[in-house]
Amino acid sequence: MADKARIVVVGGGVAGIEVATGLGRDGRAEVVLADRSLSHVWKPMLHTFAAGTARPDRQKVDYFAQAKRNGFRFQPGTLVGLDRQARRIALVVEEAEDRPPISLAYDLLILAIGSRANDFGTPGVAEHCLTIDDLTEAEGFHAALRRHLLRALRDQDGLSVAIVGGGATGVELAAELKHAIDMMAQYGSADLPGRLRLALIESGPRLLPAFPEKVSAAAARTLADLGVEVRVGAMVSAADEAGFDLKEGGRIDATLKVWAAGVKAPDVLATADSLERARTGGLIVGPDLRTTRDPSILALGDCASLTDPVTGRLVPATAQAAHQQARHLVRALRHALANGGLGTPLPPFRYRDRGAIVSLADFNGWGTLGRYTFGGGRLNGLSARLTHDLLYRQHQFGLFGPGLGLATWIADELDRVVSPPVRLD
Ligand SMILES: Cc1cc2nc3c(=O)[nH]c(=O)nc-3n(C[C@H](O)[C@H](O)[C@H](O)COP(=O)(O)OP(=O)(O)OC[C@H]3O[C@@H](n4cnc5c(N)ncnc54)[C@H](O)[C@@H]3O)c2cc1C
Repeated sequence: MADKARIVVVGGGVAGIEVATGLGRDGRAEVVLADRSLSHVWKPMLHTFAAGTARPDRQKVDYFAQAKRNGFRFQPGTLVGLDRQARRIALVVEEAEDRPPISLAYDLLILAIGSRANDFGTPGVAEHCLTIDDLTEAEGFHAALRRHLLRALRDQDGLSVAIVGGGATGVELAAELKHAIDMMAQYGSADLPGRLRLALIESGPRLLPAFPEKVSAAAARTLADLGVEVRVGAMVSAADEAGFDLKEGGRIDATLKVWAAGVKAPDVLATADSLERARTGGLIVGPDLRTTRDPSILALGDCASLTDPVTGRLVPATAQAAHQQARHLVRALRHALANGGLGTPLPPFRYRDRGAIVSLADFNGWGTLGRYTFGGGRLNGLSARLTHDLLYRQHQFGLFGPGLGLATWIADELDRVVSPPVRLD
């Protein structure tokens, strides 16, 4: 029997883990998933881990276990190099950085390594601001928050937190932090909410620029009611130990500074052997998700730059788009493997705008429904928050199948009953 084609997927986030799982179950190719981390988390939950209103240990998916259950192999390692001629990638394994990189051969390489916040080179940001782009960073933020809260309580002092970026991440993080502090106050520190000063800084004219103006205005009102100082049209020109300088003059002082603005592709793609890249650093792909200069390398999710041929707009860097691309690619590659192999032309991907949802912890939530499916209506409050949760459950059901997906959901709900609503450790 001929050797199976080898598909290597790098990045086991929203898109990558779905692709590896779908192709692994198919069984026609040898599938390897590589990730720098040992477990997958649903990135849209990171702000809840940062605030402490959700526990990552319950939500992590172990890559080794997922691989065993679904017929693919997991290789831990950080992508550090690509040799297109030899069709090999180089991975560095944590704790073994002094050893030569692992070299992995591929017939088809699928890059799904996501994105990071973009500080646009603003002075001081790299040194003084935290980001919440992966679980390690979200946990790092939570540890810093806890440390500063304990110090504030000990010294009968205040704590100031400033978040830069009024998109969904910044808005959701601000609300989640307020929610977390309110919850903590119930466990013996009633004066804690009064000690927190929370600021949200956005350079554009309004919060949530991807949403209709009404939603932006309502979100700003909700945050203001919660005591968050919302500054729109405020461009940060520098960060230092004690806060932010604003371009138009003035300052916002803060002990904890979070950068949640902009999106850029991981720096490793700059060394990706002359593949064509967009301004944000993402790999430019055609509608079949193949990179423009090498058909044996595909990219999807946040690290890909794809212009929708119908609207002429870039497909957004969202979990929704990453999920749709992953589902499309699994179907297309399964079909190709069954009908002539990996060189077979792949059908074009079409992005369906199913709308956007923003959830302000337990306080409120809004959604716009994609005009393709629902005719552009809106959701409010509870229904938007439930829809937000359902996106995650849909992802889990895809990874685990219906039985295990349901069991996990029930276990999460039971955990919610027995555990405190906020992390106190
Ligand atoms: C706090 C927050 C809230 C969000 N909320 C929403 C939301 O409500 N709705 C929505 O649609 N989107 C939301 N997003 C955006 C969404 O999370 C991303 O668009 C989505 O995760 C992109 O999926 P991906 O598969 O491209 O990348 P990711 O899910 O980021 O996965 C990338 C994977 O690649 C791995 N990786 C990275 N670099 C390397 C490397 N060099 N070598 C090996 N592995 C590597 C990472 O460990 C990770 O597992 C949010 C993002 C954040 C940060």
